[in-house]
Amino acid sequence: DLNDWHSALRAQFPIITGHPELAYLDSAATAQKPQAVLDAVRDYLTTSNANAGRGTYPWANRTTGLIEETRERVRTFLDDPDPAGSTVHFVSGTTEGLRTVALDWLTRELSDGDEIVVPFADHEANVSPWLEAVESLAREGTRVTVREMPYQSSSGDYDTEKLRELVSPRTRFVAVTHVHHVYGGDMNVHRVRRAVGPDVVICLDAAQSVGHLPVSMRALDVDFTVFSGHKALALPGSGAVWARGVRGAPFAPRGWSGTPNTVGIASLGAALDWLERAGPERIERWTVDLAARLTDGLSRLAAFEVLGCQLSLAEDSSVQRRHGIVTFRHRDIDSVDLGFILFSHGFMVRTDGLCQGRAGEKRSSVRVSLHAYNSRQEVNRLLDVLTGLA
Ligand code: PMP
Repeated sequence: DLNDWHSALRAQFPIITGHPELAYLDSAATAQKPQAVLDAVRDYLTTSNANAGRGTYPWANRTTGLIEETRERVRTFLDDPDPAGSTVHFVSGTTEGLRTVALDWLTRELSDGDEIVVPFADHEANVSPWLEAVESLAREGTRVTVREMPYQSSSGDYDTEKLRELVSPRTRFVAVTHVHHVYGGDMNVHRVRRAVGPDVVICLDAAQSVGHLPVSMRALDVDFTVFSGHKALALPGSGAVWARGVRGAPFAPRGWSGTPNTVGIASLGAALDWLERAGPERIERWTVDLAARLTDGLSRLAAFEVLGCQLSLAEDSSVQRRHGIVTFRHRDIDSVDLGFILFSHGFMVRTDGLCQGRAGEKRSSVRVSLHAYNSRQEVNRLLDVLTGLA
C-alpha cells in the first residue's frame, strides 16, 4: 500500500532521516538525494574517475560508457518513441538548456516574418531566452513577431482554444511548461500539439515534472524537452536537453568539446534509475494528494490566500491537479516574516519572489513544494502551525 511504499522510500534519504526535527518543503528549488545517488557518486569517483572520450585505458572507457548509458537512460525515462532519431545533450540545468535551444537552434531556424509563442507567466528561464533570440535576430535585420501564450483565467493552464486562433502559417515555435513552478498546476501540455498543428516546433520546460510524474515524449508529442537533474534527485549541474529529429534544421548544440560534468551525469543516471524503481505514477499520486490536503486545509483558514486556489482536489479529474506545489500568503503577516516563523517550527520553505516571467504575480508569497520523501505528518504539522497563525 502507498503508506508502506512511502515509509520505505523516505528511509532512503539520509538528510531527511538525519534531521527528524526539520521538514524540507522546498523541493521545487532543489530536491534531496537518495542513498543510491550518493553511492553512485562515491562509486564513480572511487573506481572510474577520468575524462570522457580521451583515453584508451579502462577508467576513461568506463566514463565514456557511463555518459552513453545515461543518454540512453534519459531516452527511456522520457518514453522516447524514436530513440535512434533523438539527441540527448547534457547541460547544467533547465536555464542553460532552454538558452541552448534558443541560441543554438531557434536563431538559425527563424526567417523574416516568422512568429513564435512565449509563455510570459511561466518561469523567467522559459521567457528571456526566446526574447533574446528574437532581439539578436532583429540586430541582423530578421524580424520575428513574439505572441503571448494565452492562459485560462480560471484554471491557469494554457488556453488552447485561443492558442489555436493565434497560430498562423508563419508560427514556427511555441515554448511551454509542463508544471507551473508557482501554482503547481498541470499546464495540460498534451493539448498543445492539436492546437498548433503538426509543423510547429514545441519546446517543453519539464523542470518541475521530471521526477514528479510520468513524462512521456510519446504522449506529449513535443520536439524539445529540457530538465534539471538537481530537481530530479541528481547533483546540481546535471540537466539535459532531449531533442527529437526536429522539423527543419537538426539540433546541433555547441560546446560538447570541453570536459563534461561526468560526476553529475553519473548521478543523473542513478537518479533516473531510482525514480523508475520508485515509480513516477506513485510519486505523482503521493505528492498530488499531499498538495490537495495542504490546499484544502489552507482554504479553510480565512487569514490565508492560496494562489491559483481553484487548483485543488486530487480525486476530481475535472479540476486542475496541483503537482506538489502550493503558494500562499497571509493577510497580515509579511511572507518573509512568515518564512522565519515557519523555520522556528522546523519548516524550510521558499519565501521571496519566485522568478516568474513578465506576466506573473509580483507580491511576495510563501511556497511549499513537496517531493516523494515528504510525509502526511509533515503536512499535518504545517497545517497545525498555520492554523495557530490564522
Ligand atoms: N523552469 C522552471 C519551471 C523552474 O521551476 C526552474 C527552477 N526553479 C527553472 C526553469 C530553472 O531551473 P534551473 O535553476 O535548474 O536552471
